Amino acid sequence: MYGIKDQLTEELQEIRDAGLWKKERELTTPQRTGVGTQAGEALNFCANNYLGLADHPEIIAAARDALDEWGFGMASVRFICGTQTQHTDLEREVAEYVGQEASILFSSCFDANGGIFEVLCGPEDAIISDQLNHASIIDGVRLSKAARFRYQNADMEDLRAQLQAARDGGARRILVVTDGVFSMDGYLAPLPEICDLAEEFEALVMVDDSHATGFIGATGAGTPEHFGVQDRIDIISSTFGKALGGASGGFIAARTEIVDLLRQRARPYLFSNSVAPSVVAGARVALRLAREADNGRANLRSMSALFRSLMEEAGFEVLPGEHAIHAVMFPGDDGARLAADVADAMLALGVYVIAFTFPVVPRGLARIRVQLSAAHTEEDVRACVDAFVTAREQVA
Ligand SMILES: *Cc1c(COP(=O)(O)O)cnc(C)c1O
Repeated sequence: MYGIKDQLTEELQEIRDAGLWKKERELTTPQRTGVGTQAGEALNFCANNYLGLADHPEIIAAARDALDEWGFGMASVRFICGTQTQHTDLEREVAEYVGQEASILFSSCFDANGGIFEVLCGPEDAIISDQLNHASIIDGVRLSKAARFRYQNADMEDLRAQLQAARDGGARRILVVTDGVFSMDGYLAPLPEICDLAEEFEALVMVDDSHATGFIGATGAGTPEHFGVQDRIDIISSTFGKALGGASGGFIAARTEIVDLLRQRARPYLFSNSVAPSVVAGARVALRLAREADNGRANLRSMSALFRSLMEEAGFEVLPGEHAIHAVMFPGDDGARLAADVADAMLALGVYVIAFTFPVVPRGLARIRVQLSAAHTEEDVRACVDAFVTAREQVA
């Protein structure tokens, strides 16, 4: 193998030596609040299953029925023979839900973000991206020939400076792109201020609402609804892989001209397979359930509030906010080891959470990220907090 095997072995060892090795735990059950792990049964607090829909019987039934009615696979991209009536129905329904004229499906939100920037922005244009945006936005922006600008996370002074720089550079179009929710902190992007600045500089605004669609905002339409700026957002990208059933698939929702152009030019759409029929059918039901999930959203909010207050009572530092993502901080030099040890001890106690350390988060700001679901009960939340307390004692 021309010595390549040795090079790869060395590279793998470097990953291990740097403490960056990602070990995958196998679940032995469907995704749900109580899962089987190889360490035994555990309450799951690290899925993006925000509405608890991943194992919802109506979604499973719809997906199962779709196998009979629509078959297993499309064996085609959309523009050849990969579009069933249900694909178009789902696109219409999801656009309506998030408050945009039209939408277009992709195999994933990663692909949606991978496809949009090179279509909308060429060498005459500029893209201004939040420093903490998702990897798929970073990669998608790299594929575009536009001038690239980056602003400090949610820093509106810096965004203004970058907008000015893009204008001074003579950009034809300027596109500002941000995550709706920053997933390591659970912070929401300041959309009203971003929209104000974008208007002043005549820029488009795109929001990746993957950690919001279905449960943030009064009807779950996402961060634009939460902030009352739905009619000021030009483009939304999001996923069916989190709150909306959690299977797979993503979309871009925007005005018709943008969506039409993506259908003609977006490479991950043109050259990759259509979303599978059973997944489309399940996603349509997930969308309807999300629309109707007022009780679920209320439960998610009250479980979040309960978790925060119990954790603070127990003396833990939790980053402020109302999102279902809760960052339990383990600051300082010893934080990374402590967070990892506490997470391991918690799994042995039957509570599954994940520690995030450098380089995923800044050095000295290690944390355990807890993600609540509408399917969690008060008993689950209390069990989680108890496990934090016991694990902290065990590893101290
Ligand atoms: C999860 C996530 C994605 C990727 O979604 P997939 O549909 O799983 O590809 C993209 N952007 C953000 C902000 C995400 O959180």
